Amino acid sequence: MPDRTTDAWRHLDAAHHLHPFTDYKALAAEGSRIIVRADGCSLWDSEGTEILDGMAGLWCVNVGYGRDELVQAAARQMSELPYYNLFFKTATRPAIELASRLADLAPPGLDHAFFANSGSEANDTIIRMVRQYWALEGHPERRVIIGRQNGYHGSTVAAASMGGMSAMHKQGGGTLPDFHHIREPHHFKYAQDQDPEAFGREAAGWLEEAIQAIGPERVAAFVGEPVQGAGGLIVPPPGYWAEIQRICSKHDILLIVDEVICGFGRTGQWFGSQTFDIRPDIMTLAKGLSSGYLPIAAVMVGQRIGRTLVEKGGEFVHGFTYSGHPTACAVALETLSIMERERLVERVRDDVGPYLMERLGALREHPLVGEVRGVGLMAGVELIRDKTAHAFFSPVGKVGTRCRDHCFNNNVIIRAVADTMVLSPPLVITPAQIDHMVDTLTRSLDQTEQDLP
Ligand code: PLP
Repeated sequence: MPDRTTDAWRHLDAAHHLHPFTDYKALAAEGSRIIVRADGCSLWDSEGTEILDGMAGLWCVNVGYGRDELVQAAARQMSELPYYNLFFKTATRPAIELASRLADLAPPGLDHAFFANSGSEANDTIIRMVRQYWALEGHPERRVIIGRQNGYHGSTVAAASMGGMSAMHKQGGGTLPDFHHIREPHHFKYAQDQDPEAFGREAAGWLEEAIQAIGPERVAAFVGEPVQGAGGLIVPPPGYWAEIQRICSKHDILLIVDEVICGFGRTGQWFGSQTFDIRPDIMTLAKGLSSGYLPIAAVMVGQRIGRTLVEKGGEFVHGFTYSGHPTACAVALETLSIMERERLVERVRDDVGPYLMERLGALREHPLVGEVRGVGLMAGVELIRDKTAHAFFSPVGKVGTRCRDHCFNNNVIIRAVADTMVLSPPLVITPAQIDHMVDTLTRSLDQTEQDLP
């Protein structure tokens, strides 16, 4: 890279670069922080300041930064076969090997993988696949996919339509047809005083109501993240997923589980489906699959859909130039090996996951904290204006953003989703780094409280 000062990089950034998911006015006022290198759970900016990454990038760098094994895996594959595609009748060894490794790892029955390059592309693939499945089964009228408000399934127009992010729907003219959203199972928001299990049943019942309103014969699938991540770290109440599963079976509706965040150890099992005992027909994987080192995603399908596509389907008119890119597959394979070798899933389940929740638990006493929730190594700390009156901040999100900025200025990355502070660090984080992360969050909460009028 050219040797430029931080100001020169910022100037070029402002002149030529449109950032994703960024408030352009705030960026213009403050300028970017230029990240230049990383190792383990730490990043360094162009001024040489170390920053603890409490978000593993965008919930993805599960094995941590600076892994030479992944660099070597990419280099080996690039020297041997840097690229070839999987269209028509060719395949590459890394793609075949990865599909078969994923079939071994995934919950029973999910034994075929279709590769894409991002969670959004994988979810777009699912939309086409599910509708094609029903058409091949003689039910082309089954097109509607039911998701949840504040569910996040990606940023392409179709994936955002399947997701329930109203701000995304507002930009660009609403959703595509045949998507519907039910409320999310957010106990703290909707029903703090209700028994969580009763609320779980009630929230799953919103699916039954939606199916009846739409007409079961028109519904193709229900989609959900095991734990809603970008929508506010919403951990489902006990019994919720069992009831969702029952309702889907009753109406013969396919169950799509978006494991883009929850997959690969985040919840203390390989997949969130295992943590919540879900038996999906289809699963979306991305992020942790390559630990973010290269873009890769996969759709895993079970025998029900696989058999129909293969035996009745003919051509599946869908794919991407870089579907199953051999270098990305080689890096994903090595990522899985690191996770197995270092027992990172067990580490989250038995060690750092419980420790994070224990340390965060003390924040319940903080005047700004309404709820602390989480599972494995993903946690949310929801801020509230008045605990006794159960009054949220208005407008939503300002206080969370303020706290996020304090964390960032204190050199720890913690994200704010509306007024929930979200933590999702690399799975290799140490207890000492968890202490530092939680201490910094506490200090930032104090600073945020002092800022309030
Ligand atoms: N699904 C979930 C649950 C996600 O959290 C994300 C991204 O955060 C996506 C899909 C979209 O993935 P990508 O950004 O790789 O397109």
